[in-house]
Amino acid sequence: MNIEEFRKHGHELIDWICEYYKGIENFPVKSRVQPGEIKSWLPKSPPESGEDFKQIMSDFEEKILPGITHWQSPNFFAYFPANSSRPSVLAELLTATLGVQGMVWETSPAATEMEEVVMNWLKEMTGLPSSFHGVIQDTASTATLVAILSARERITEFQVNQIGFLTNKYRIYCSEEAHSSIDKAAKIAGFGKQALTKIETDEALRMIPEKLEEAIKNDIYEGLIPTCVVSAIGTTGTVAIDPLQEIATICKRYKVWHHVDAAYAGSAMVLEENRKYLQGIEEADSFVFNPHKWMFTNFDCSAYFVKDRDSLVKTFEIMPEYLKTGRDEQVNNYRDWGIQLGRRFRALKLWFVIRTFGVEDIKEKIRNHISWAGELAGEIRKDKSFILHEPQNLGLICFRLALPGIENLEERNKINMEFLDSINKTGKAYLSHTKVKEEFTLRMSVSQTDVTRDHVFKTWELIKQMAGQINA
Ligand code: PLP
Repeated sequence: MNIEEFRKHGHELIDWICEYYKGIENFPVKSRVQPGEIKSWLPKSPPESGEDFKQIMSDFEEKILPGITHWQSPNFFAYFPANSSRPSVLAELLTATLGVQGMVWETSPAATEMEEVVMNWLKEMTGLPSSFHGVIQDTASTATLVAILSARERITEFQVNQIGFLTNKYRIYCSEEAHSSIDKAAKIAGFGKQALTKIETDEALRMIPEKLEEAIKNDIYEGLIPTCVVSAIGTTGTVAIDPLQEIATICKRYKVWHHVDAAYAGSAMVLEENRKYLQGIEEADSFVFNPHKWMFTNFDCSAYFVKDRDSLVKTFEIMPEYLKTGRDEQVNNYRDWGIQLGRRFRALKLWFVIRTFGVEDIKEKIRNHISWAGELAGEIRKDKSFILHEPQNLGLICFRLALPGIENLEERNKINMEFLDSINKTGKAYLSHTKVKEEFTLRMSVSQTDVTRDHVFKTWELIKQMAGQINA
């Protein structure tokens, strides 16, 4: 493809994207294809000679789009969003065009320095302590792994990096509601899943600090070594918010690394009224949130903040001859701030997003989402056909059909699962589920970039209609 062909197809592609945005609500939100269907439409072997762009686009529309779940639809209420936005897409185009590898400062000084600047912007926007140092990771899963590895190295005085584990006495703690990425990190950081203790939660599904302290004390008594606590500001199931201050005090008392996972809810800290959830953060060692969830910046973009930069860098540092530069003492070389060597220029999309929206518009969007979620929760609370999970937190609403008279848990769960399927099959909205104390519970996350109050309340009408059919 020469430059003039690229120009032509580039314009066509932007036109296609605009039409897609305009018509996105005409697609079923959740893809309807069956397993294997898409594969059966695609050739088994690659083409020997180059194909026409028009043909490729036509196949994309016919054979790929049916297998797409439309995460950017304003009727997408499932999981947490993986939000994009138009400035973010344009920046991504530039990132791909430049094709920069930002592994060390010298390989593109702007990529490194802009990352430093936008991470400081995020710190200011969310009210994080100014003493934290920020770096972009691909996902929250990676950021949590990075935190757990740093905790491992700090407590072993960087010995595991040198000689491997000499004992399996190290322990990690999180609540029983914490994200599966912590289980994964415990496995791959060499602790083993047996090293992970899940702490009991209260009625609101928050970690019980007294239970955490009890577990730590018992472990110390048994000769084990408490190494890291991962608390959550906003669990995946219900956005439960662990009591940060109390957990922070315990971590400080026993000198345990405290990592805070705020993958979804972290973006809501742009609003002063949510800063209460951050009390105790000055004492935490690390914090992660995903602008790719709720700050309108397309995947992947996870903001990781750490207090002790030296422990982080010492954990990941490598210095082969071919990566040495004359400026290593003066600059950040982000290859030493995480797992990857090669790094995409992800700061650019954050810069575009924050500059295009402005902090005020980002705040307004998130405040609206939270307010519409609260309003809908109020309607669900009043309706006897439903049970709302309380407390309802931020942009997430968790609810199920009340099903009075149905005593059997399995039967209730089966009906609620069918209820969720019936909503999703309409193609008009997409919700997901979790289990709350064994009860199958629907999750509706009001956090998509283009969602409006109208989308939320039309979906509520749909929910009531489907509930009526199930109850009938
Ligand atoms: N932590 C929490 C609380 C989450 O909700 C999620 C994903 O939804 C993750 C971590 C993992 O996020 P990522 O996909 O960025 O690894």
